[in-house]
This record gives sequence, structure tokens and C-alpha cells, in this order.
Amino acid sequence: MLFLSECRFAVVLTRLKCMSSHIIFQCPACGGRKVTAPDPPDAPVCCDGCGWSRSEGVADYQSGSLARCRICGCSDLWRQKDFPPALGLAIVATAAVASCTAWAWYQPVLAIGFLMVAAFLDMLLYSFMGDMLVCYRCAARHRKSVMRDDHPRFDLETAERYRQQDLKRRGV
Ligand SMILES: [Zn+2]
Ligand SMILES: [Zn+2]
Repeated sequence: MLFLSECRFAVVLTRLKCMSSHIIFQCPACGGRKVTAPDPPDAPVCCDGCGWSRSEGVADYQSGSLARCRICGCSDLWRQKDFPPALGLAIVATAAVASCTAWAWYQPVLAIGFLMVAAFLDMLLYSFMGDMLVCYRCAARHRKSVMRDDHPRFDLETAERYRQQDLKRRGV
């Protein structure tokens, strides 16, 4: 019985993971900024603007983890915290204003308190947010994708190599 409910839980979890997986990318055909949510994750990706699609999803996954960019097929992806920078900035800005106001009203404890709450909130959000994979070549962001636990983080050298390639390609 316990095993059954565990199985059901795993199925629900997998389904949830599949449903929430989505890719933010620039369409290689029309250049538009698009979002696609392939379901299952290895289903073809497509642009709803011009009809461009790529259906090599099965080869993009290795042992169930995303190993290649779903948009351009590049095998260099870096792991990044899926944390909206605007949210972090909004928290810090609000805390800074509140802290300055408290300081102006001669409330130093409150002023420091606001900053500490902001730092704590940031830390909490940061640790709860998952990771996403970003493509070095086309900058497509693969949110909520299954990835290897030891997937590498950003590497400046690799990024520079792709930047040079891009410049050469565009003839700059
Ligand atoms: Zn398009
Ligand atoms: Zn790519």
C-alpha cells in the first residue's frame, strides 16, 4: 500500500516536472523572443510565430538529463540559479528605502532590521529556487529541466570562445 502511494507520488512529481519545464529562446528563424513548453520534455520545440521547429529532443537527453541545447543542439550549457534578478533587486531596493526612512526617524535598530530581513528573504528565495540550464551559443534558457547533479556552472573561458565564434560568424 505504502509502495503504491509512493509510486503515485513519483508519477505526480514527474508529471509536475514535465508540465513546468519550459524554454525561453530567440527563434533561429524569425528572431522573435519565444517561450515553448515541450511536453514531454523531449518533444519537439517550436516557434508559435513562424512555425520553426526542431525535433531532436531524444538525442538532447542523456540518461534522462538534458545534455544539449533544445534549440541549437549545442552541448555546452551552464547551470544558473533560476532566480529572477528583478525580484532580488526589488527586495534590496525596498529594504534600502525602508532602512533609510527608519534611519531618518532615528530608529537605527529598525533600519538594520529591514536590511537583515531583506538579506534573509534573498537567501531563503535563493535556496528554494531551482537551477536552469543556459546555452553558451544561443542563450536559450531551459527552465525546470532535469539535469545532472554535477552539471558545471558558468565558465568564462567557454563563454569567451562562443563570443568569438559569434563575432566571426557575424563578420565583425
Ligand atoms: Zn520563429
Ligand atoms: Zn543553444
